[in-house]
Amino acid sequence: MPKQEPFERVRNFDEVALGYPPAVAREEAGRCLACKKPGCVAGCPVGVDIPGFVGRVADGDFAAAVRTVKQANALPAICGRVCPQEEQCERSCVLGKKGDPVAVGRLERFVADWEAKEGAADAPPLPPLNRFRVAVVGSGPAGITVAADLATLGYEVTVFEALHEAGGVLTYGIPEFRLPKAIVRREVAYVRSLGVALRLDYVVGKTRTVDRLLEDHDAVFVAAGAGLPWFLGVPGENLNGVWSANEYLTRCNLMRGYRFPATDTPLRRAGRVAVFGGGNVAMDSARTALRLGADEVRIVYRRSRDELPARLEEVENAEEEGIIFDYLTLPVRLIGDDRGRLAEIECLRMELGEPDASGRRRPVPVAGSEFRMPMDASICAIGNSPNPLVPMTTPGLEVGKGGTIVADEENGRTSRDRVWAGGDVVTGAATVISAMGAGRRAARSIHRALAGAGGGEVA
Ligand code: FAD
Repeated sequence: MPKQEPFERVRNFDEVALGYPPAVAREEAGRCLACKKPGCVAGCPVGVDIPGFVGRVADGDFAAAVRTVKQANALPAICGRVCPQEEQCERSCVLGKKGDPVAVGRLERFVADWEAKEGAADAPPLPPLNRFRVAVVGSGPAGITVAADLATLGYEVTVFEALHEAGGVLTYGIPEFRLPKAIVRREVAYVRSLGVALRLDYVVGKTRTVDRLLEDHDAVFVAAGAGLPWFLGVPGENLNGVWSANEYLTRCNLMRGYRFPATDTPLRRAGRVAVFGGGNVAMDSARTALRLGADEVRIVYRRSRDELPARLEEVENAEEEGIIFDYLTLPVRLIGDDRGRLAEIECLRMELGEPDASGRRRPVPVAGSEFRMPMDASICAIGNSPNPLVPMTTPGLEVGKGGTIVADEENGRTSRDRVWAGGDVVTGAATVISAMGAGRRAARSIHRALAGAGGGEVA
C-alpha cells in the first residue's frame, strides 16, 4: 500500500498509509481462494464474511462488499486501519503458508473508504422502537458496537460519555496520522443515524451513578475502557517534562495540541524524548513526539525486538521515521535540574532469562550496568487499568485483578442484575476488535434478557 515518505510524514500529522487504488484492490482480492472452510472468518473476533466481501471486491462490486462487511462490523474504516490482522484473519489465510496472505485489513479499509467517498451506504431499515431503554457507559468501540446492535433491534439507546467527544481511545488515544478523526466522527455519526442518543461530558459515577441510570433504563452496559495510566514507580516521576502517554496523547489528539496556538492546549516541544514501553501506545507516543518537533526520540524497552507487543507494521513505521530503539534497557531513575525539569534518565541494562507467565523471556538486570542519558521529556507507556469510578460507585459490582470488572466472557453479564460490561474495562487494555466483539456478544445477551429468548438475531 502506498505511504507518505518518512522524511515527509515526520513533519505532518496526515495519515501515513494512503490506501489501495481500486485496480490494486481488485487485483489483491482476486488472490483469495474462497476456501470452503475459511480460517480467516474463524480468526475474526466479529466473524466478518471475509471471502464474501473479498469476492465482491474482486468482481468490482464495492457497494455489495461494504454491505457484506457491515453485516458484522459497524466500524470497518477503523478496523481496516488498526486491527492486528496479522494475528487474526490474515494469520489463518492459507496463502500465508507459502507467501503473503490476502491483505484483508487493507481491503476492508478500501471498501469503507470507497463508501465514504461515494456516500453509498444507508442506515439499515430500523424496526419500530420496542419498550426497552438501554444506557451505555462510554463511547469507545465496545459502547458504540453495543449501541448500534441494540438500536437496529428497536431499543432506545443512550450512550453516556465522560469526554466532550465520542470515540474513546479512537478519538483521544490513537493519533491522527494512524486514524484520522474524521473517520471516527463519520462512524459515530452512522451510529447516531440509527437513533442512538449521545450525552457528552457525562461522567457516570459522578453526574449520575449506575443505580440512578437503572431507575429509568432497563439495562446498563459498562464500556468505560482502561484509561488509568500506570507509572514506573521510580524516583523523579513528578518532574516537569514527565508524562503519561495517556495525557500526552489526549492533549495532542483530543485537545488538538499539535495545532497550538490555533488551539488552546499547549504541548511543549522537547528536544530529546524517551518513551518507556513497547506497545502500540509507545509507538504512537514516540511518533507523535517526533512530529511535534523533537530532535531525538528513543523507545526504551526492557526486552528485545522479538518481544515488542506493538504491531510489526507500526514498529517498522517508527524505525523508518528514525525513532531509536534502546532494547534491554530499564529506566530506574529520572533526574531533574535545579528548576524541577527532567534533565537525565538513569537506566540499567537487561538480559533475557527464562520465560515468565506471559510466555516471553523475563528481563533480568545486569548488575552494575547503570548508565545515564540526557533527556528533556519522558512518556510512560507501560500500560493502563480501568478507572475505579464506576465500580466504586456501584455496590455489588464484582471487580477482579487490576480493577477490571468481572463479567461473563460469553455474554458480558456482571455480578449485578441488569448490568453488563465489556471491552477494556473487563479485559484490561486489549484491542479495538476484541472490545467490539464484547459489545456484540453483550447486545445479544441484553436482547435475550429483555425481549425474551429467541427474540431474533442481532444483525
Ligand atoms: P475505550 O476506547 O477506552 O472507551 C471508553 C470510553 O469510556 C472513553 O471514551 C471514556 O472517556 C469513557 N468513560 C470512562 N469512564 C467513564 C465514565 N465514568 N462515564 C462515562 N464515560 C466514561 N487497539 C488495536 O486494536 N489496534 C491498535 O492499533 C491500537 N492502538 C492503540 C493506541 C493507543 C494510544 C491506545 C491507548 C490504545 C490502542 N489500542 C489499539 C487499544 C484499543 O484502542 C482499545 O483496546 C479499545 O479502544 C478499547 O475499547 P473500549 O470501548 O473498551 O474502551
